[in-house]
Amino acid sequence: MKPINSTIERLKPSGIRKYFDLANAMEGVISLGVGEPDFDTPWHISAKAVESFAEGHTHYTANRGLIALRRQIANYYRNRYGIDYDPESEILVTVGGSEAVDLCCRTIIEPGDEVIVLDPNYVAYEPAILMAGGVPVRIPLTQAHDFKLLPEDLEQAITERTKAVIVNFPSNPTGGVMTREDYARLVPILKASGIYVISDEIYSELVFDGEFCSPAHFDEIRDQVLVINGFSKAFAMTGWRLGYLLANPELSAQLTKVHQFVIMSAPTSAQYAAIEALEHGMPDIAAMRGEYEARRNLICARLNRMGLTTNVPKGTFYVFANITSSGLMSDEFCVRLLEEQKVAVVPGTAFGESGEGFVRISYATSMEQIKEACARIEGFLETLRDA
Ligand code: PMP
Repeated sequence: MKPINSTIERLKPSGIRKYFDLANAMEGVISLGVGEPDFDTPWHISAKAVESFAEGHTHYTANRGLIALRRQIANYYRNRYGIDYDPESEILVTVGGSEAVDLCCRTIIEPGDEVIVLDPNYVAYEPAILMAGGVPVRIPLTQAHDFKLLPEDLEQAITERTKAVIVNFPSNPTGGVMTREDYARLVPILKASGIYVISDEIYSELVFDGEFCSPAHFDEIRDQVLVINGFSKAFAMTGWRLGYLLANPELSAQLTKVHQFVIMSAPTSAQYAAIEALEHGMPDIAAMRGEYEARRNLICARLNRMGLTTNVPKGTFYVFANITSSGLMSDEFCVRLLEEQKVAVVPGTAFGESGEGFVRISYATSMEQIKEACARIEGFLETLRDA
């Protein structure tokens, strides 16, 4: 047989998967490895999809998505974050934030272009860059700086060949959040270089301390920014596969071409559900956010008491726990914790080299499970000390 595409062949499967496979093969495992809300989609949202079937809405929509949904998205970004996007020409409804990441890379990147990513970063960015022929360039982030992107590091990473930077705050896996002041320091550098800013804002509703800020908030660079967001995390709608991409009209038209030929239109029933989510789902978001925050407070207090010195994440439902005091490397920590105490967490190295010495713990699971998992982690650390 002929060889397949060598870039695809060289891609490594996600480092998260290995732990799911190990955990699935065992009984009695508490999984703090998952990257999705434990809540089911609120029923009033699901009911609108059921209604849409009954009403015969079983056909394609416009390539960009239902105009009623795009208007809701425009209202949402205006009312919630003070940023205006035109529903006719600047909003594209996608198959999750996942499709949006891929569309951005394919639309912007020429073979050989450098794209800056933060390390640690979400697992899909580097494969998307590579598949588009780009070259990922990593900026290491540190716990000492709350896993934020610093202006001096950005400035140093930008070269003639840099096409874009991908930012994701609140961050998966660190839970780090960039404030308006943090972004303000980056704006002159971004403006001067003219590079695109792909801003993955999928966790924008999960900020516990302070306020969410998008780089698109800054008028000077607004047209360089491509905003990715979606319904998975905020509304507990991972299985619906719905997201969106906000960009200036010229860019949006190009992004829509790729979407048109690859996807056609996002799932129609999910779009009806999403209209309901944006119209009437804000109280649901607030309730879930409150629950995540209570869990975060509990888990961080417990981890710090165990000697795993962990920054309190300002957003998401992940905590990036520093495990260096255990004396183990991230991978060994995760394998042994799973085998000896049946708790699944993900090594920080699954998200980049700078994740060594950390594990990502998801608190998108019940308080009882979190308490039991903490007791088991404590037991695990004690056995290490006794050994
Ligand atoms: N971006 C980040 C940072 C994520 O964590 C995820 C999901 N884990 C996604 C994008 C993709 O989300 P979806 O495709 O479900 O919208």
